[in-house]
Amino acid sequence: MECRSSGPQPSVSNASAGAALRWFEDMIDHCYDYAEAARAQGRPVVGIMCEFTPREIILAAGAVPVCLCGGSAATIPPAEQFLPANLCPLIKSTFGYQVTGKNPFLNWADLVVAETTCDGKKKMFELMGAAKPMYVLELPHKAENAAALEHWTQELHKFKAHLEERFNTQITEEKLRAAIQLMNRERGLRRQLADLMTQDQPPLTGRQLIEFKSIISGIEADLQQYENGLKSLSASGGDASSPNVTATKASLPREIRVLLTGVPIVHGAERVLELIENAGAVVVAMENCTGLKPILEDVDAADPAPIRAIAKKYYHLPCSVLTPNSGRFDTLRSLSAKFRPDCVIEIIWQACLTYDIESIQVRKLAEEELKLPYLKITTDYSPSDSARISARVEALFETIKAKAKG
Ligand code: SF4
Ligand code: SF4
Repeated sequence: MECRSSGPQPSVSNASAGAALRWFEDMIDHCYDYAEAARAQGRPVVGIMCEFTPREIILAAGAVPVCLCGGSAATIPPAEQFLPANLCPLIKSTFGYQVTGKNPFLNWADLVVAETTCDGKKKMFELMGAAKPMYVLELPHKAENAAALEHWTQELHKFKAHLEERFNTQITEEKLRAAIQLMNRERGLRRQLADLMTQDQPPLTGRQLIEFKSIISGIEADLQQYENGLKSLSASGGDASSPNVTATKASLPREIRVLLTGVPIVHGAERVLELIENAGAVVVAMENCTGLKPILEDVDAADPAPIRAIAKKYYHLPCSVLTPNSGRFDTLRSLSAKFRPDCVIEIIWQACLTYDIESIQVRKLAEEELKLPYLKITTDYSPSDSARISARVEALFETIKAKAKG
């Protein structure tokens, strides 16, 4: 598994913020060491592939939840020996790691948790499940149906029972509450980092901000680094003239602020984000599953029924597999008001039908309601269309600048 992407490297010179960024640049290595040590202590590894999967229940079972989503183009050809070429690259890349055996976290996984989201994933899980122990959470798709939340809550109760039996443990209320606190703390810190981008001159690029995450949640050392980065970046006030921060790619004036939406941009697949920012913009907010969507809401720690509280938080995730998915449009409205973008750019992985079709409504929202220019980029993990994407992004930015000049 690759440890690093080849994107522009952070150049924040504020010692503490720079150290925090460097920590997350080596995130895969840290996760490897953490998971290896945890296994040596007898903790099971549980692979997950979607933000609907509640990490709190896995942590409460004493297991290590690891995101297995693939961001590598290299594992796609091996996957295509089994999967159709015309399939989302995220699904193919993830499965390619199973074919090649090159993801140690997948190799170590004592259990893989899947869920009934998009069709491509569901059917891929059946193939993966032939080789790995697999548990499938049934996600109801009609988000506004009151019975759907009840069904999802029951699914999570069954999941808890499954983990208890499989790992011969008891998930007590106390353990659940501790896991809820831990995950709320992690989400809160990542939210505060993302909020720094509301500044007129954000202290980070979007490419730097997306580094601040880990494929394993709840690692105390990561939380410390979130805190360190946050403290030092907040202290600098995002001011490029601050003695703490030298002129960096992030602190140079950028004329265009971008609200990014669409599919998840998993580790290693940040190419389009880089192309957008290399064209002179800063991505001030990412609505997708690798950005703000999963961290906007916490689990209600005061709820007397912790599994129900977890179910509620996760079922509020506005993914395009839900119908209707009105929560996503509300999120885009509030992010637009908060981060003040000049345009909306949507990334769609090729053959992702749900996000692709939903993009019709996103365009309408952006152009007609938010009065923001909208650009849809449909692509995969191959760099073959980079020049074409850059040209389209540059044309959009030129139009925005020309309009601003009047
Ligand atoms: S976009 Fe939907 S299916 Fe994909 S990780 Fe997010 S919630 Fe899961
Ligand atoms: S990007 Fe779309 S097709 Fe790919 S896994 Fe996510 S929802 Fe499914």
